[in-house]
Amino acid sequence: MAWQPADNRYETMKYNRLGKSGLKLPAISLGLWHNFGGDTRHELKREICRTAFDLGVTHFDLANNYGPPPGSAETAFGEILRTDFHGLRDELIISSKAGYEMWKGPYGEWGSRKYLIASCDQSLKRTGLDYFDIFYSHRFDPDTPLEETMGALDQIVRSGRALYVGISSYNSKRTKEAYKILKDLGTPFVIHQPSYSMINRWIEEDGLIDTLDDLGLGSIVFSPLAQGMLTAKYLGGIPEDSRAVQDKSLNPDFLNEKNVENIRALNRIAEKRGQTLAQMALAWVLRGGRITSALIGASKPSQVVDCVAAIEKPDFTKAELEEIDKYAKEADINLWAASAERKGPARKKK
Ligand code: NAP
Repeated sequence: MAWQPADNRYETMKYNRLGKSGLKLPAISLGLWHNFGGDTRHELKREICRTAFDLGVTHFDLANNYGPPPGSAETAFGEILRTDFHGLRDELIISSKAGYEMWKGPYGEWGSRKYLIASCDQSLKRTGLDYFDIFYSHRFDPDTPLEETMGALDQIVRSGRALYVGISSYNSKRTKEAYKILKDLGTPFVIHQPSYSMINRWIEEDGLIDTLDDLGLGSIVFSPLAQGMLTAKYLGGIPEDSRAVQDKSLNPDFLNEKNVENIRALNRIAEKRGQTLAQMALAWVLRGGRITSALIGASKPSQVVDCVAAIEKPDFTKAELEEIDKYAKEADINLWAASAERKGPARKKK
């Protein structure tokens, strides 16, 4: 018999308004960067997505290059849409992005109109969708006029390829510039996707978080678990099935003795709160309501279950926040800060 989603799927999840827009996102969203490529069993991908949806996770985040190979996560999700989420399109918020290298030659990455529109079309084809709910410029392109990149996003909406647009990893200054261009064009620009976690606070230091408040934009923060570092999984060493040993962009050097000591201290605070460390890390990014959604990744359905339960204990005392700061700031690692203002040697990005 075909899979049926849980009847009670909207009973426990919290839905937060995306800035001043009419759209709401679940407090916890699922990203398909890792564990949705050709290196993962398709059945496992289906189980992860079904578990998430059953728990009220309505938002699934993609990009052209997620895999490996690039594009395969979109293909796999397209398959899941057909086999499992069939008939549920209007209950889902599906996003994709373009910005990193997707194909060879001068038109296969960054922010030209040529690249963004072609890439959006390819992503629609791979997923089998008629439109994305949100389409992003994945990174700021220092060599393309911002008017061109934003104009392409505008065109993507006007041509029916997406309902809303967003930007990812743009710093505060570039976000303000993008906002002005898109406001003048009348484009529904509603969301920013930066990295943020207890041990990666660049959006506070750069002022981006204040800029988003001022502009009335929503935010979805990626790698809120610092790619798994802010969970209990590395406290007793590096497990074989973890991202740190699979060349999946988590630098094992970050798991040095000093950082792991600080993470152990954070784990003790979480235990005192009656949460897992993953749950406390997610509640922390969502504290005070400034962040719309925490965008997690998962390699197993049980991780999704653990993460979603973060919403059960959202509040922190002043003393808890101070204690977290003490250890988290010592382990401060800007895993993924704003896109570079100038093109340098390419950062490794899958
Ligand atoms: P993350 O949530 O910080 O890390 C996910 C990893 O943490 C999982 O793969 C798993 O590691 C571990 N994990 C998750 N829940 C756990 C739990 N309850 N207990 C123990 N371990 C747990 O997020 P991310 O995967 O780095 O990024 C999330 C999403 O953000 C991506 O899928 C993508 O959609 C988006 N993203 C966007 C950009 C951008 O440039 N815009 C960049 C990066 C990511 P193991 O796999 O080791 O089990």
